[in-house]
Amino acid sequence: MPGFARAMERLGTETAFEVLARAKQLEAQGRDIVHLEIGEPDFDTPGNIVEACKRALDEGYTHYGPSAGLPEFREVIASHIAADRDIDVGPQNVVVTPGGKPIMFYGMLAVLDPGDEALYPNPGFPIYESVINYIGAKPVPLVLRQENQFRLDLNELADKLSDKTRLLILNSPHNPTGGILPREDLRAIAEVLQDYPKVWVLSDEIYSKLLYESEHVSVTEFPGMVERTIILDGFSKTYAMTGWRLGYGVMPEKLAQHVTRLETNCNSCPPAMIQRAGIEALTGPQDAADAMREAFRKRRDHLVAGLNAVEGIDCLLPGGAFYVFPSIADLGKPAAEVARRLLDEAGVAALSGTAFGAHGEGHLRFSYANSIENLDKALERLAEFVPVLTGA
Ligand code: PLP
Repeated sequence: MPGFARAMERLGTETAFEVLARAKQLEAQGRDIVHLEIGEPDFDTPGNIVEACKRALDEGYTHYGPSAGLPEFREVIASHIAADRDIDVGPQNVVVTPGGKPIMFYGMLAVLDPGDEALYPNPGFPIYESVINYIGAKPVPLVLRQENQFRLDLNELADKLSDKTRLLILNSPHNPTGGILPREDLRAIAEVLQDYPKVWVLSDEIYSKLLYESEHVSVTEFPGMVERTIILDGFSKTYAMTGWRLGYGVMPEKLAQHVTRLETNCNSCPPAMIQRAGIEALTGPQDAADAMREAFRKRRDHLVAGLNAVEGIDCLLPGGAFYVFPSIADLGKPAAEVARRLLDEAGVAALSGTAFGAHGEGHLRFSYANSIENLDKALERLAEFVPVLTGA
């Protein structure tokens, strides 16, 4: 067999999908598994959105469309983001993609050259580091720590910014920790960036509608930031639309043109009938999305209380997304081993903190996009498993 491109050695992956495959394998052998590994709502897409897609199919939205998205959809997204983030953007700033994820890939391809430095949260969504490496740029981790509520360490950020830095990735609410960057941190970040005019910001705001106690704040709120920021947002999490593949980026017009060209070269355009459903999602009733958020909040409270009742586990109450990232350092075992044995021996699928980067050691990530009943089952199993693991 002929060989592969060398760059493939630098491309990472998302372990959640591998753990899901292993969990499915165990289920095929007859094991009962509680799935707390994958980051997707367990709810169905709201009916009004499904109906809008069916209508679009009947109306003939089955053809190629503009690469950046249907004009009427870009208008709706621009109005939504302008109102929601209180910024001045229009349809020329919007690029629609199949899921929010391509905005990471296309966005980084458009602004990074080999050798450039890119700062990103670690632990963090694994695709950031993977794509930075793939491009041949240098990933510079910004370490998130539980004792700092998983906020960025602003001194570390100031230390690690350099003349080589071309990109800073922010993610709030954050996967995997559920942490939030408060307004004062974002203000400080915007201020320090004033000394680094060559730095782009990729602000991953995919969980912007999943905050439980506070309002979402975007870094674009601060002076000079709209001109250098790519906002990534989408429909997967807010509207339980993971399988539809619908997301978007909002960015300066010149960059939007580059990202659009990348889209033309790759997926041509997002599917038309799915975009019509997206219009309904943003302009139709929001009660289903609100109800899902309320369900997540209850589950979060339930899971955090349950985890803290287990000896050796220490869990913060996260402010957003649908993940918890408890410390398991007191269990005295590597997180990957704990996650593997938790699945194999106790039938609970969770992710090792190290699936989110080297600085995730000492943590597990649980998604609470699952029923209270299943969360209870997982907690019972965990309480039985921990003494076996530690030999207590
Ligand atoms: N950003 C973060 C932080 C995520 O956790 C995810 C999905 O897990 C995405 C982006 C991508 O979402 P999607 O491509 O499904 O819209």
